[in-house]
Order: sequence, then structure tokens, then C-alpha cells
Amino acid sequence: MTANFSFECIASCNQTKARAGVFQTPHGIVETPRFMPVGTLANVKTITPAQLKDTGAQMVLSNTYHLHLQPGEDIVAGGGGLHKFMGWNGPMLTDSGGFQVFSLSEMRKITEEGVTFRSPRDGRIINLTPERSIAIQNTLGADVIMAFDECPPYPATREEVEAATSRTYRWLERCISAHQRQDQALFGIVQGGVYLDLRAKAALDLKQFDLPGYAIGGVSVGEPPELIAQIVETTAPLLPSDKPRYLMGVGTYREMAMAIASGIDLFDCVIPTRWARHGTAMVQGERWNLKNAKFREDFAPLDETCPCYTCQNFSRAYISHLLRSQEILAYTLLSIHNITELIRFTQKIRNAILQGTFATDFAHWLKPGEVQEEK
Ligand SMILES: [Zn+2]
Repeated sequence: MTANFSFECIASCNQTKARAGVFQTPHGIVETPRFMPVGTLANVKTITPAQLKDTGAQMVLSNTYHLHLQPGEDIVAGGGGLHKFMGWNGPMLTDSGGFQVFSLSEMRKITEEGVTFRSPRDGRIINLTPERSIAIQNTLGADVIMAFDECPPYPATREEVEAATSRTYRWLERCISAHQRQDQALFGIVQGGVYLDLRAKAALDLKQFDLPGYAIGGVSVGEPPELIAQIVETTAPLLPSDKPRYLMGVGTYREMAMAIASGIDLFDCVIPTRWARHGTAMVQGERWNLKNAKFREDFAPLDETCPCYTCQNFSRAYISHLLRSQEILAYTLLSIHNITELIRFTQKIRNAILQGTFATDFAHWLKPGEVQEEK
């Protein structure tokens, strides 16, 4: 494995493929399975790095596409690199920009060379290639960087997905050649859409590169949840067992629990902070809209069992009041709680794996369920 990185599996479940591990990076360890909060523009929206640390966050994700557009990677490097610039001394991961180019940008043109698109910020034409994405990520300086991939939309025809998947493979070869820094681990990404045989082939193709970690990408792009579970169930066990496995863009309770049962170690998702900004609290598997009238005179904490700063100091009524007054503190308090909640969920699963009780303790999360209703 790349210098300064190691992954050790310290316990595994005997009824599922779940495992508990320790991923060592130059900026500290990540105890897996674990949820990673997203700090798109080198900040987790509305909270400080000190507050972020208190949520139990270990590895934090930032977005190459957004940072390239603003402020630009050279300014981040000028500020001492991503960790120093944003004041986060723990492990960090940047994505490759591929997903955002395909989901956010207009007027994009894909060729074998790379992708050309128009910046939504200022209209300038930007060319992103595997080499350019890796150069930007080398300049940003996160511990883990991601290969530049083509993420096909859902739905897409088999031919379209096959073309995107084989291009992703050729682009990975170019990413590996372009990668310059030994203190950064380059993860490859399995594509293949909802076609399980294409996923399996992509996983086996990637395996031969002996990378320090592997991700499953292109899920949670609009396909039904049961397809996500099938994709992960098929793909994860084919990836090397001695390397971390990361399921990109997934962060709901059931999907994480089911993916962990298939052998996934890392997750990221914007929902805890995005929902916080919509006034939604995540409480033990449920979604609560704190603007709802019933919370106006509810003086209990969001969750009595939660150790977070929000739950230790404030009531549902207070947060409801802040939301109704559109006070920024409401979003801060809800983000602190929601991130803590998802990290705690993965920590509880980790503890259960260590104690050998995962399959029984989390049985109700390990079968397909209805979409969670807002209360
Ligand atoms: Zn809390």
C-alpha cells in the first residue's frame, strides 16, 4: 500500500460480510465502518471544525469540482493545503469532480480525452481530464483522492453504461500514471450502473491494479433503493478484502446498514447538513420536521440518548423557535446533531460487529423497507 496508509480488519461478522477495521492515514486513523461528513467547499456548512470534531467525525470529504471553480486549487495550496486552509487536521478525502461534472454542469462534451463543460459560476469553458483531476487533487492535498470516472445517469441503456464503464477503466490507468504524491492514496471507482454483470466485471478489472482502496460509485442517482442494495451486494465482495471499501453518496440508515452487511467500510452523504438547512432532524431512524407545530412547546431534547452539544443544551421548542425566526444557529444546531447521529449509527454498528451481535441487533435494518416518512 502507498506509504503511510494501512488497513487492518479487526473483526468480522459470522452471519454477514460486515467487518470492523482501522484505516490509517497520514492525518490519523479512521475506524470503520464510518460515515464521513461532506465539506463541499472546504467547510461543513454552518459548523466550525471544532464542532465537527465533537460530532465524532474522523475523515471529512471535500469536492474537487467546487474547489476548482472557487477559490481554485492554487489558493488552497497557497493557504498550506486543504487541511491547513480549512483548519481540519484529521483525515480528508477529495472526490474527482467526475460526479459533479456529470450531474451539475451544462453543455458538457465527453470524449476519450476528458470532459469539457461550462462553469456554472462564470460561464468559462473548463476542460477536465483524468490527468487534470489528479493534478488538482495533488495540489489540494487530501489524504485520499479519487480516480476520475464517468458516472452514467439513471436510467441509461446497457450500451451507454458499458461505454462509460470501460472508459472509466481506461481513465483509471491514466489517473495512476498521473498521480504524483506518495502521501496520498488513490482509490479506484467501480461503475456499471444497474447492470450487475458490468459491475462485477468492473470490480474484477479494478482489482488487478492493487490500489490502496476501492469505491463503488454511480449509485443513489435516482434508481430504486432495492437496486442499490443489489449493486452493493454483488460488487463489494469482489473487491479486495484487505483494502477499505467506500460506497459513494449513500448516507441513510437502512442503506448504510445493508451495505455494511455486504462489506462496505466508508460512506459519505450531504443529507445530514442539507436536511438540517431544511429544518429536519434525524432521530433514531426517523426524520422530524422541527417547523411542525407540535414541537413549539416540546421542551425535551431532540434525542435524550444523544451526547451531542445540541441535545445536551437545547430543546426541540428552542430549535423550532430558531427555525421560525430563520436564525442561522438553528442550522448549526441541527447540523451538529444530524452529523453526530449518522456517525453514532455507524459507530453502534461497529461496536456490534466487535461484539458479534451485528446480525441480530441490526436485523430490522437489514431488510428492504419503506421510505422513511417525515413526522
Ligand atoms: Zn444530538
